Amino acid sequence: MAKVRTRFAPSPTGFMHLGGLRTALYAYLYAKHNGGDFILRIEDTDQQRFVEGAVDLIYSSLRESGLIYDEGPDIGGDYGPYVQSERKEIYKKYAEKLIELGGAYYCFCSKERLESLTDENGNRKYDKHCLHLSKEEVERRLAAGEPYVIRQNIPTEGVSSYEDMIYGTINVDYSELEDNILIKSDGMPTYNFANVIDDHLMGITHVIRGTEYLSSTPKYNLMYDAFGWERPKYIHLPTIMKDATRKLSKRYGDANFDDFVKKGYLKEAIINYVALLGWAPKNNIEKMTLSEMVDLFSLDGISRSPSIFDEVKLRWLNGEYIRELSDEEFYEVARPYLEQSKVNGLYDLKKIAKLLHGRTEVLGEIPEKIDWLASMEKYDLSLFDNKKNKTNAAVAKELLPRIRKYAEEVPSFDNDSLYEYISGKCAEEGIKAGAIFWVMRIAITGQGVTPGGATEMASLLGREETLKRIDFSLSLLEE
Ligand code: GLU
Repeated sequence: MAKVRTRFAPSPTGFMHLGGLRTALYAYLYAKHNGGDFILRIEDTDQQRFVEGAVDLIYSSLRESGLIYDEGPDIGGDYGPYVQSERKEIYKKYAEKLIELGGAYYCFCSKERLESLTDENGNRKYDKHCLHLSKEEVERRLAAGEPYVIRQNIPTEGVSSYEDMIYGTINVDYSELEDNILIKSDGMPTYNFANVIDDHLMGITHVIRGTEYLSSTPKYNLMYDAFGWERPKYIHLPTIMKDATRKLSKRYGDANFDDFVKKGYLKEAIINYVALLGWAPKNNIEKMTLSEMVDLFSLDGISRSPSIFDEVKLRWLNGEYIRELSDEEFYEVARPYLEQSKVNGLYDLKKIAKLLHGRTEVLGEIPEKIDWLASMEKYDLSLFDNKKNKTNAAVAKELLPRIRKYAEEVPSFDNDSLYEYISGKCAEEGIKAGAIFWVMRIAITGQGVTPGGATEMASLLGREETLKRIDFSLSLLEE
């Protein structure tokens, strides 16, 4: 069997949408699982949609997510150029050949004439007018320099059939298709033409793309057949939905790889989650490294029904990846977010990172979790209410002077010393340690939820700040 070759063929529109990333991932996994090659091709023939910097973003997103391609514009390969706008001459040659073979024809129709073909429902289908021009007339008009396009000649009747490796047999009536433009008046090919020429010339064995191409594939097969080329195998992938009724759409900027990275999702977690959008391995495991995915990947795990993008699950997975990091690694990934927080410059960021490590699912939430550390503000005294420890604001008022004394007396202000000293004092004096710690934590943070217990928080703040905050809380309780 020929070596498997798959490709990812994005248009450079300015972002790496998660749907695109999934197509790239499955194409990568299928190739690598079968010992094949994964190719990157840039489909930039629609110059109006071109966005500056978009191609670099494609390179960097693929690289960052570990989808290393074997051939591509920036690394070369035997089948280049890998950018469609640099292949204009190739398309021209094949378009002329297809005309000779009867699979396409020149069309000189004016915009006005095309508009006149619109029916009362606003639909328009080209009427093959120029297919019937004589050879002489075509030549004369070409020689006169008249603008033209090249259209595909689709049969008017009959059914086209092919096998999709996910969706099975697909039948499409030719009458549902139309004579689309293959080469535009500016000489650029359309996707409808370029994908066929490139996939064939680049030796692509398996075409992997979204289901939106399922029904136009018969048009492409007509061209493979006309040229006498072997059709590739087709693997169309189910849609990704935002919810039960709406598609996840790049147009609405719903879900771009970069945005998720900025929000504080780890690349490994994103790529792992994206893998699950339409595929489940046999043993149904969910957390997998890229190389595990390569081993497990198989087409029978791909579902035909749409999958729904679920950020809650992505969060969970991200949390799992975060917990696996060492404290040092966590500090490195958390650092930009720690530095954005108000705490930057006031406290030891490494120490805070250590406290946050087991309690963080998304790194972008770090600043809001710790900003309160920077200053103590008036807080809701009902936070002292706690049934289990039998505390409330009145109890807090009574206990705080004692807590202040412990904080003054403790010989060393690290977490362990604080914990031992205070627990020891409570035992000696017959006070419930739970109540002391609860009141202390609220009094020095003013927060219901904190990334650590009372003594952890105190050790972070230091003795001076801890005492200052206790005094502040006492003043609130006395108001
Ligand atoms: N450029 C097309 C797109 O971005 C590629 C489709 C394909 O993979 O054939 O949708």
